[in-house]
Amino acid sequence: MNTKQLINDFPLLAQLIKLEEVSWFETKATHLAEALPYVGLDSTDVADASARLQRFAPYLALAFPETAASNGIIESEVVEIPQMKQALEAKYGQAIAGKLMLKKDSHLPISGSIKARGGIYEVLTHAEKLAIAAGKLKESDDYQMLFTEEMRNFFNGYSIAVGSTGNLGMSIGIMSAKLGFKVSVHMSADARQWKKDKLRSHGVSVHEYEQDYGVAVEQGRKAAESDANCFFIDDENSRTLFLGYSVAGERLKAQFEAADIKVDSEHPLFVYLPCGVGGGPGGVAFGLKLAFGDNVHCFFAEPTHSPCMLLGVHTGLHDEIAVQDLGIDNVTAADGLAVGRASGFVGRAMERMLDGYYTLSDEHMYDLLGLLAQSEGIELEPSALAGMPGALRVSGDSDYQARMGLTPEMMSSATHLVWATGGGMVPAEEMAKYLAQSAS
Ligand SMILES: *Cc1c(COP(=O)(O)O)cnc(C)c1O
Repeated sequence: MNTKQLINDFPLLAQLIKLEEVSWFETKATHLAEALPYVGLDSTDVADASARLQRFAPYLALAFPETAASNGIIESEVVEIPQMKQALEAKYGQAIAGKLMLKKDSHLPISGSIKARGGIYEVLTHAEKLAIAAGKLKESDDYQMLFTEEMRNFFNGYSIAVGSTGNLGMSIGIMSAKLGFKVSVHMSADARQWKKDKLRSHGVSVHEYEQDYGVAVEQGRKAAESDANCFFIDDENSRTLFLGYSVAGERLKAQFEAADIKVDSEHPLFVYLPCGVGGGPGGVAFGLKLAFGDNVHCFFAEPTHSPCMLLGVHTGLHDEIAVQDLGIDNVTAADGLAVGRASGFVGRAMERMLDGYYTLSDEHMYDLLGLLAQSEGIELEPSALAGMPGALRVSGDSDYQARMGLTPEMMSSATHLVWATGGGMVPAEEMAKYLAQSAS
């Protein structure tokens, strides 16, 4: 790869290499109708995913009592964070136009991160397929019958493998083990010890590697290839994972309607999504676009040390380039975001639906972690704070607003939604260490 030429063609890369925080809002974003054909999936696919989760809800309510209150539907709260808004404005000297809200996927049941959407959905899809093919299940059955010794024994004849920096492994490991599958999680070097311990306590076999996420995925893929009964969950390219995440769009729409929060041409919605390989934020953004159309504006946030999606989309090289090709080290405290090469599927599918991409430093994430804990009493893991500067950057960018036809009046009626992607299960002593890193 001729990186000199590339930097010449794309001057923004020089800033990425210097690990500067950047925003790139002059993207390929266009109207939904024009962007949709590039995804290769549509609202029927999302409706299908939604119906599948509905079929499994009685099973989940039984197998995971913490989901009984929501009748087996795995969903998180959305809350306004006015004190945090004030704290941000004061600390960074930038007013935020409109309301600031938090989507608490950090506190999703079962695995405490956004991966409880896609990861669990993909395991359920696979289990349903196997059981139906074996004549043991019909879509019209009460899926509570999956919570029996007979079905656990059936699934125990099959295995599931996945490569992960931590949270995906948690979701897939816990869900697969509960159904009865043999499951192995291939963990990258940056995965936290407590996540490995927790998985092992659920009977998951955890393999550890010295290298990063890409290597863990490759090892998982290889291990699965040698076993015909082993299903490998491919975080880099899975449409199924993507669809599991996308159901969040219609769910958020219903939550907003219940809370009387308007999203229309006079009331834009801005959503800030932490991005690793891209499946989570990509799937959620896809669902949001289908639910809210051109009135929702989605942004991806990445660490300065791992800006893989920004790099892939900006250069048009997608998964043909990794941050390491530019000498960027892919070392960050942000679990889930330490990814050097973005999903080629997500970048190509979603680049016309995304208004912007930005990066922030690890120090900045820690500061925001402390600020949120102090101002609102909400504790998240560092990666989950990546969305937080988004509202400041959008509010401060009058060129972007003008280009998108967003008037000051519309901005003051806007809702900014920060997608908090993880942290609900971080042990207290780990959280204390995170808070100690914050300068806030
Ligand atoms: C996985 C993860 C993300 C990003 O999801 P991708 O699908 O990898 O882009 C963001 N935040 C947290 C906490 C995660 O675990």
